[in-house]
Amino acid sequence: MASNKNKSGLDDILKIGKKIYKSTNKTSNKASSSKIKREYASKKTTSSSKRYTGESKRKSSSSTSVVSGENLLKDMSVTAVKSATGRTSTKNLAVKVITYAILWIILLVTIPFSTSIEKEINRPSFAFSSTEGEYSVHFVDVGQGDCTIILLPDGKVVMIDTGPASSRNNLSKYLSSMTFTTIDYLILTHPDEDHIGNACMIYDRYEVLHSYVPKVSSNYMESRGLNESNFKVVTSNVWSNTTQSMYNENCEITYNFRDVKIYDETSIYGYSIDFFTPLEDRQSTNNDYSPIILVNLQNTKYLFTGDASTEKEEEFLTEYSPLVSSGYFDVDVLQVGHHGSKYSSSTNFLNAVTAEIAVISCGTGNKYGHPHSEAVTRLTSCGCQVRRTDEEGSIVMTADSSIENKVATQSHFHRNTDFYLEWKYVLIIGGVLLLVLSYILFKKSRKAKQK
Ligand SMILES: [Zn+2]
Ligand SMILES: [Zn+2]
Repeated sequence: MASNKNKSGLDDILKIGKKIYKSTNKTSNKASSSKIKREYASKKTTSSSKRYTGESKRKSSSSTSVVSGENLLKDMSVTAVKSATGRTSTKNLAVKVITYAILWIILLVTIPFSTSIEKEINRPSFAFSSTEGEYSVHFVDVGQGDCTIILLPDGKVVMIDTGPASSRNNLSKYLSSMTFTTIDYLILTHPDEDHIGNACMIYDRYEVLHSYVPKVSSNYMESRGLNESNFKVVTSNVWSNTTQSMYNENCEITYNFRDVKIYDETSIYGYSIDFFTPLEDRQSTNNDYSPIILVNLQNTKYLFTGDASTEKEEEFLTEYSPLVSSGYFDVDVLQVGHHGSKYSSSTNFLNAVTAEIAVISCGTGNKYGHPHSEAVTRLTSCGCQVRRTDEEGSIVMTADSSIENKVATQSHFHRNTDFYLEWKYVLIIGGVLLLVLSYILFKKSRKAKQK
């Protein structure tokens, strides 16, 4: 089926190519005769030009027309040049037309092809599986949103947020490159669509063993009496559907709060995931439900803050000041809060966590203007190397357990869809420029021959 489809697609392209070839030939013939017409017209009076136009239609092959003596002379000289160089010029013209036609066909073929390149590129260039003793952290390019996948050294899988529904295709493609079928720990930081938009898809597609969710009730929970009395209710459909899928999954459910822990029970592989916030049950905004999570993977530290605001960062610094002073939160990698918003990542906070690499997950040209220049400036002046999914695509960091205490030894970058869409425009513009250039060259060669 697929190959037939491709074949018919190719046939179509060839047909279009032939049409272009024919029309280019026609146009060039027309162009040459109309050029002569224009030259005469400019030298004639209105009444005689009418007559001439009529005549020229008949004359084009014989080059005899009823014109003034001067024009007749010119006409003859043109004809003389034409007959002398006739064969070569026709041949040259044919070669040119064929070349351009081929280039156009290549262009037309490349456009649909670039879509498939995009599909391929969106997948990581190497297969990701949980190799024992190795881990990888994937900041998946989900446009304007967050989704991080951590393959733990014991083969378990952590997913922090799922990105927005608009990134479903991208995320699906990315997941197709991964071999796991179970997600051990799904952490949903807060009930905003750019973080939980694909949660239902994840519950459908994977066996989720354990969910970590904010202390927020939903319409579904209310209707089923699953609500906790002191919980805020978020009435969005996406949150309602997410909680419904979560309850249908029959997984363990833990509410995000300080002191929640995920750790390596065997202590062989050396990892831990610690929640330090929220410090209170109720928060004033959805964003502030985001937990501050420290992920320690064989002594490489990753810090996640979701969309928590600078207020929450300050609360965290105050609450854990002895640990902060001791350098406990000196991390290697920081996932920058709230997609690089200026209302997160305060200088105080950045100075406390001293991240070497700051990853910003945001969408190209997003309407919020993330990342804000203020936040980026604060990050760079704190000495962070800033990496962005909107510029680089998905960012993957891996470290082999044999390499001791190494920071994110490798980063692999996968361009996002937008980049390849832009490529299509580049190809189209290139094609148009090529045509313009060929027209100019054609005009020039005609002029040279006429001289
Ligand atoms: Zn967000
Ligand atoms: Zn949010």
